[in-house]
Amino acid sequence: MKQFPAPKAQIHPVLAPSILVTGGAGFIGSHLCEALVARGHQVVSVDNYYTGSRENIRHLLDKANFEALRHDVVEPLRVEVEQIYNLACPASPVHYQKYPVQTTKTSVLGALNLLGLAKRTQARILQASTSEVYGDPHVHPQKETYWGHVNPIGIRACYDEGKRCAETLFFDYQRQYGVDIRVARIFNTYGPRMHPHDGRVVSNFIMQALAGEPITLYGDGQQTRSFCYVDDLVEALIRLMQQDTHAGPINLGNPNEFTIAELAEEVLSLVGGPSKLVYRDLPADDPQQRQPDISQAQQALDWQPQVSLRDGLKETIAYFKHQFFN
Ligand code: NAD
Ligand code: UDP
Ligand code: UDP
Repeated sequence: MKQFPAPKAQIHPVLAPSILVTGGAGFIGSHLCEALVARGHQVVSVDNYYTGSRENIRHLLDKANFEALRHDVVEPLRVEVEQIYNLACPASPVHYQKYPVQTTKTSVLGALNLLGLAKRTQARILQASTSEVYGDPHVHPQKETYWGHVNPIGIRACYDEGKRCAETLFFDYQRQYGVDIRVARIFNTYGPRMHPHDGRVVSNFIMQALAGEPITLYGDGQQTRSFCYVDDLVEALIRLMQQDTHAGPINLGNPNEFTIAELAEEVLSLVGGPSKLVYRDLPADDPQQRQPDISQAQQALDWQPQVSLRDGLKETIAYFKHQFFN
């Protein structure tokens, strides 16, 4: 029988770990894929293109170390990788509430399938969890030790409880099977490649201001959020994956807190134009305030956000202007 020659040691240089990114064609996922490709990893994006698009990853498609698969994470998946970032899940209330049953299935069955894959391949796996696990919080700012205040039967529950159950599965796969997990609780993140019509506040306000339309404040605009620029968030996700000691859950976000009315003023001052503020009903279960305590991330990852809201908004406005108002 013909024998293949024994491989010579070091034919290939030491390769960076191969990585699967689910939700790789989405807003955060596409930035993550871009950063990982630039660092020399072999990257596979898996996405069903529900809220993501091939446009977000078009610039990566001709790279030798990137490939994109159309696949729904609700179905089992077999690929051989060393690290998994599980980001697949619609993130905007408008999209996750449109098909709530699919949202829960994506979070729970998606996590189950990817944990099964991680168990089989012994890959390290990171879950994109969310500040929504804290619900409408009674503790402020939110620390990782807070268990949250979530309505289990409300219109946000498909997302909040889906993500909470995914966290449960992650920690049970760690305890029962020794799977090497990382859990990031991501707070509101914004930047280029947000879906222009996904209804999230930053993209809504920028699209409205650029079109000269009214800026829609829900409720009295006094509810708060803390906005993190996507480049800062991606850096934190990669640091969390690469370090060996902290499984999480760990809060990732920008601790600078703003009212939604302040955000509207900031967007208007940067865009200019004739838009006026208008007030609309506050959606059910809308959290009143949200601000991450990031002391764990500062210590464990030696990380904190670098980009101010004003600078991040400038980049994001430039993107929306170029894409949709040229
Ligand atoms: P996004 O909607 O732009 O990206 C989600 C991606 O997942 C999309 O490309 C979508 O097509 C894909 N997807 C959805 N269901 C799928 C399925 N069943 N199978 C395969 N792919 C599927 O949202 P994003 O803002 O980039 O969020 C990415 C992740 O980060 C999500 O898991 C989200 O819950 C989490 N997160 C985001 C934020 C934020 O502020 N952006 C905050 C907290 C957590
Ligand atoms: N799974 C997958 N890809 C793999 C390995 C497993 O999608 O490479 C799925 C598998 O189909 C199952 C889930 O992950 O639905 C959980 O797998 P596990 O082996 O933990 O559970 P079991 O198959 O024993 O129920
Ligand atoms: N919001 C708003 N106007 C909009 C869209 C959203 O006032 O056009 C408010 C929304 O009610 C919430 C906050 O902005 O209080 C953040 O909403 P988003 O959907 O971006 O994120 P989440 O509520 O999931 O944090």
